[in-house]
Amino acid sequence: MSTASTPADCFDPRLGLMPLAEARRRVLESVTPVAEVEMLALDVALDRVLAGELVSPMDVPPHTNAAMDGFAVAGGSLPSQGTRSYRLVGTALAGAPYRGAVGEGETVRVMTGAVMPAGTDTVVIQENVEQSDRAVVVPAAVRPGENVRDAGEDIRAGSTVLGAGTVLGPAELGVIASLGLAQVGVRRRVRVGVFSTGDELRAPGEPLERGMIYDSNRQVIKAMLRRLGAGVEDMGVIRDRREDVMSALERARAGVDVIITSGGVSTGTADYVTDALRRLGEIDVWRIAIRPGRPFAHGLLGDTLFFGLPGNPVAVMVTFYQLVQPALRRLMGQANIDPVPLVQARTLSRLRKRPHRTEVYRGILERDASGAVTVRSTGSQGSGVLSSMSAANCFVILPDDAASVEVGAVVDVQPFDGIV
Ligand code: AMP
Ligand code: MG
Repeated sequence: MSTASTPADCFDPRLGLMPLAEARRRVLESVTPVAEVEMLALDVALDRVLAGELVSPMDVPPHTNAAMDGFAVAGGSLPSQGTRSYRLVGTALAGAPYRGAVGEGETVRVMTGAVMPAGTDTVVIQENVEQSDRAVVVPAAVRPGENVRDAGEDIRAGSTVLGAGTVLGPAELGVIASLGLAQVGVRRRVRVGVFSTGDELRAPGEPLERGMIYDSNRQVIKAMLRRLGAGVEDMGVIRDRREDVMSALERARAGVDVIITSGGVSTGTADYVTDALRRLGEIDVWRIAIRPGRPFAHGLLGDTLFFGLPGNPVAVMVTFYQLVQPALRRLMGQANIDPVPLVQARTLSRLRKRPHRTEVYRGILERDASGAVTVRSTGSQGSGVLSSMSAANCFVILPDDAASVEVGAVVDVQPFDGIV
């Protein structure tokens, strides 16, 4: 065996913190896309994932047609100087083609979208001609072939229109409709069960006794899942007892592809979740080198993927965005699982940073009066301050080796996509 290995390969969670990139690599490695495919009507296929590549059964547009209102003529007959008079023999509208063939010295009035009559290949726009009842006078300097959209100009029959794993948005659904397809094959929806853990949690709408807090994480996680297009099963709250955790997770895993919990994975006294998980399946609890979001559990309960997010609400959103969202995208069969690219901005706030961990600030990305892209901190960065996520439109990502950042420095910014 070679002894050469990267630091990531020999990472040992007992020895220290796991770099974020390493956690991401391990999470993604554990995911296999769902295989089952269903046929859906276009009306219910928004945000679903295309199962196979889509090959066009036809040319789009299907016929060569007029791009402007005007008069269809044969390009070869156009005058090179002076003018030429054409005999007007008919009209073609979008959806009402001219039936005959157009002969030498003849023209047909065409409206945008009309099929080009046989014998013509050029549209002279109506503003450029002199028209009488029976004749149309065309000047020189009209280019043969102009103002015409060729059959197959947008999509050629037999060409690949959309790759497997494409998320179907408005444009994609329109493209599929333009091919005359009423249904599309998509991967089945991924089902995710969501639990909260903690004796202190109360549901919104209930009275709040002293020492209790309202359960916000479950709402946040369910909403982020819905934005991603996952099917959500609300599985309620698990109290802080090991037996409760074990029985809840064992029951839950049958019906879902993924279970997500929040809370209970830190190394405090009441962390029964960690202990139960280790008994239930192949689950690792990592201390990831990220702030906020350090404790994070991941693994398999049988065939069911498991993510144990931290309890603090901001840490929930940070770890979801960095680790869970790409994993779920892969599970859903999406071809592109990367988050939106980082952009660079000049910071208007001083950002404190400790070495050897990634720090994630909540930021507001905007353009200043001069047009420069700037970012500023939302203020208090406590990992329980969920309002900071609401005020923010991006994360400022200070990587492991970065030092504190002064006002005016350029920082990496990750715009929010699907989590707000
Ligand atoms: P834990 O990791 O369980 O110790 O939780 C860390 C912090 O997050 C504690 O202050 C918890 O009260 C809080 N927390 C845990 N779960 C939730 C939740 N579902 N909603 C809001 N806060 C939570
Ligand atoms: Mg707890």
